[in-house]
Amino acid sequence: MSGKYATERLSDDPAGIARAADLLRAGGLVALPTETVYGLAARADDDPAVARIYRAKGRPGFNPLIVHVASLASAEALAEFPDRARELAAAHWPGPLTLVLPRRRDATLAAAVTAGLPTVALRCPAHPAMKAVLEQVGGPLAAPSANRSGFVSPTTADHVLATLDGRIDAVLDAGPCSAGIESTILAVRPDGRVELLRPGPIASEKDGADTSAIEAPGQLATHYAPGKPVRLAATGPAADEFMIGFGGIPGDCTLSPSGDLAVAAQRLYACLHHGARSGKPRIAVAPVPEEGLGLAINDRLRRAACPVEP
Ligand code: AMP
Ligand code: MG
Repeated sequence: MSGKYATERLSDDPAGIARAADLLRAGGLVALPTETVYGLAARADDDPAVARIYRAKGRPGFNPLIVHVASLASAEALAEFPDRARELAAAHWPGPLTLVLPRRRDATLAAAVTAGLPTVALRCPAHPAMKAVLEQVGGPLAAPSANRSGFVSPTTADHVLATLDGRIDAVLDAGPCSAGIESTILAVRPDGRVELLRPGPIASEKDGADTSAIEAPGQLATHYAPGKPVRLAATGPAADEFMIGFGGIPGDCTLSPSGDLAVAAQRLYACLHHGARSGKPRIAVAPVPEEGLGLAINDRLRRAACPVEP
């Protein structure tokens, strides 16, 4: 894809990390690895840089961004932390947990980051490259998933370039992401009530939430879409289907031959990317149990299978 920028591919070493931090400090867009998926980062306090994220992704302006921080102390400068939020952060940060919290009035954040909401979504990621870049930039980074809006999320640098080459300054290539699906999102209300907004890699999330009703403001029903019809709970493929297997059900590729849900989460988007690139016009996916990490995997699969608008 040709675009405004020549997108640099940076390596996961001190020179690559320093270059990523330089580009970001100057207001650029850099796709960075995290333990969940690759994120498209920009300085969260820089209005033009944040506007560039929305433009590069084609993301609707009402869908707010997650702000990534290097530490709990940096997060506390941006949001109010009820006691339960501090407990959840202590238990899961750094890691794949995003907390939606009341935004502090004096938080230095670009207005578009929170899309006008009185809350802000915060995460302290564990990936060493992401942590190193956050520390060198010295301030929070807004980073949604590094894909064009609505497409399958990226778990490799090649997935990022498949939709954003020429639209961003650089991608830092640290190989495949370990968790493979987006962070668990919990909202902690001012009275301490906890709501699950998006299931994710933290499978014990339901223990922490006071409601299991999944609401996902800004998350569209059609999402993670590979651009062709997807059939779920398939026990085998039709002639024109690319089959994604799981457990005892084989396929053109498999989420996990042994039925391991952590492996399935890690491989989910790579399998959907394979299916999208294959010559077959349709994709079929074997059933995945609705338990533990399977809840988050099925959430993503249902959105991938939602009919594409005519
Ligand atoms: P992405 O980073 O592309 O996975 O998307 C970020 C997700 O975080 C979206 O589903 C947003 O709706 C959600 N999000 C970000 N900020 C907030 C917020 N203040 N309240 C609720 N959800 C949020
Ligand atoms: Mg996304």
